[in-house]
Amino acid sequence: MPEQEAYGQRDTRMLLQDTMQASGEPGDPAAWLRETDIVSYDFPYAGQLLAESFREWCGLAVLPFARSWQWCVLNSNGKWVDPTDTAGEQGSQWTKEWEAAAAASLRTREISVLKAENPEGNSGLILLMIPVFTRSKGEIFALLGCVMPEEQYIQGGRHTAEAMALHYQTCFYRRFEYVFVSDLAGVHQHAERESNRRSLLFQIVQRMHDNIDVNAVLTEVIDSISAMYPGARLELFMSQDHRSTHPQVKPLPLYSDADNVCAKAFKDGRVALHAGRDTNSVEIGLPLGGKQGVYGVFHMILDKPAFPDVDLRFLTMVADTAGTAFENAKLYERSNQLIRELRMMSELTQRLNQSLRLGDIFQYANEELLEMFDADYCCILHLNEEKGGLEAIACNYPPLCGEIIDTGKGLGGKVYGTGEPLILSEYSSAEGFHSRLMSATQSQSAIATPLNVGGEIRGAIMLTHREPHFFSYDSFRLLQAMAGHIGLAVGNARLHAEVRYLANRDSLTGLYARHYLDEEIKERQTKDFCGSLVVVDIDQFKMVNDTYGHQKGDKILKQVSEIVKSSIRQGDIAARWGGEELAVYLPQLGVQQALYVAERIRKRVMGETEPRVTVSCGIAEWSWTDDRVSVESLFYRADMALYEAKNNGRNQVIIDSKNTDINVKNP
Ligand code: GH3
Ligand code: MG
Ligand code: MG
Repeated sequence: MPEQEAYGQRDTRMLLQDTMQASGEPGDPAAWLRETDIVSYDFPYAGQLLAESFREWCGLAVLPFARSWQWCVLNSNGKWVDPTDTAGEQGSQWTKEWEAAAAASLRTREISVLKAENPEGNSGLILLMIPVFTRSKGEIFALLGCVMPEEQYIQGGRHTAEAMALHYQTCFYRRFEYVFVSDLAGVHQHAERESNRRSLLFQIVQRMHDNIDVNAVLTEVIDSISAMYPGARLELFMSQDHRSTHPQVKPLPLYSDADNVCAKAFKDGRVALHAGRDTNSVEIGLPLGGKQGVYGVFHMILDKPAFPDVDLRFLTMVADTAGTAFENAKLYERSNQLIRELRMMSELTQRLNQSLRLGDIFQYANEELLEMFDADYCCILHLNEEKGGLEAIACNYPPLCGEIIDTGKGLGGKVYGTGEPLILSEYSSAEGFHSRLMSATQSQSAIATPLNVGGEIRGAIMLTHREPHFFSYDSFRLLQAMAGHIGLAVGNARLHAEVRYLANRDSLTGLYARHYLDEEIKERQTKDFCGSLVVVDIDQFKMVNDTYGHQKGDKILKQVSEIVKSSIRQGDIAARWGGEELAVYLPQLGVQQALYVAERIRKRVMGETEPRVTVSCGIAEWSWTDDRVSVESLFYRADMALYEAKNNGRNQVIIDSKNTDINVKNP
């Protein structure tokens, strides 16, 4: 009924307001309706209403004596209205006369009366045209035409016809009010439904945005849609590696079938519809998208009878809201993750900085990484140049600790060799790849990264877990960041060790420096029971210098130093005491044993130096039973013994007189 609808939409609300204000009768809620009227603007749309009321009126109103009369209705322009509404017929035999009479009545606003020829020829006929007025403004909105025998017209037929025209007006208004009221009721219903939806949407939005947890957002939206469409089958397909415990959340299938509503909705970012395979259902794909992209698709299957109620606009709004809430929750999760990573990084670096010893650093790193990544095993490999391989320097799988692994072999070797990090989700299905660590520990997942120290790859870090697919891409990324920090700490420790080495060594001879010897002896005196100091001085060195020159002298000094170094045990400390004087501290040795060492040195110097030089040695011993145990006194006594050796003719070893009388003289 397009005319009615056009009429209803144009006027109903406006009229409602106007008439409610106009009626001014608070006790009569329907007064406004009685005062509601059509006006000339509505006339072009009133054709159907005219025809319908005419049909109704004909059925009810025609009095027995008026049954032979012919009636018709014309619109406000005086045009014949087809009462059957079939729009094919060209009117009755009187149409021309009626329209002419109507034109006259429209001009005069009066009833027009015409005499007409009776085709049957008995008596004359009268054609009447009666204007029908609107009830408030008295505009002619229709005309009723009537043809009656002349004699009946004379006998009062005109008045009857006028009365019948009034009744037609009533019939028209009754129908008009019915249309008006039902239209109004429709508007009310629509408004109520809209308001319900709005409040539902508002609730959903509020609940969704209350959640900052990704899974909670998804659960909320699934529950909301399920509550709105209880009969629907609903699933959510997520695109990313988003794990959810919700049974209705599944990974988005990778295949892209053009017919598939999910693939289509995901690709276009718009709602996609499809009449189900069996014609009784409808399939809907609703994208779950935010500002940064589409994350997934809601897949709904609804039985067709429920379909007319499905408001796609509303569903799209819910899905959009869910997408935004999901994105926000995801961002929140991401920022939390970053904060956690920062905290872990700061904890790791703090722990690493507690020590400058390489061993400690690797051990700390191992412990921290295990905890941070919740891994089952951690293994750190460090290049051992002497042994020509990668040493498992820290590992919580004891059988591997200290093992040397070929560079290029296994997980760590591969990472070291290629310099590329690696993520492995299922070891058992990784063909042609073997890892000792993973096999021995029955690990399935691994992440590994090269260890870069000062721009050079010096090792590898591996983390493994028995579960397949355990490590996320984020963990993989985080391990690389952590490896950077570990590499930095290792670099610092190496630098520190180098500096310490240099600071404690004499550059010419490679022996320890005097201050280092002093400190070591002091340290030993607090722990050990005894120890001996041998002072070694080259005889007549001034003369050697004078004879061969200083450069040669330096060489001899180095030769003697090498002899000293190679004559002592690991743990003994040989130092350059000053000039051409060397000193050896022998921890836990008494003078008698020290004497053998000194003798060995003396003899070797005599036999191995070129040009040949000799040395004199002085030995002193300390014991925890001594009254005065100090480095100074020890040196003093050793020096005294040396002095004695020089005085006795050089090339000999003298023990400090306080300790013993046994002195080995020049043979
Ligand atoms: P003595 O047997 O009494 O020890 O005689 P000496 O000449 O070795 O002793 P003295 O203390 O008189 O002289 C030490 C000489 O050692 C003086 C110096 O020229 C030389 N000397 C000290 N340090 C170095 C060095 O680093 N290189 C060289 N070439 N000579 C050094
Ligand atoms: Mg000397
Ligand atoms: Mg000297």
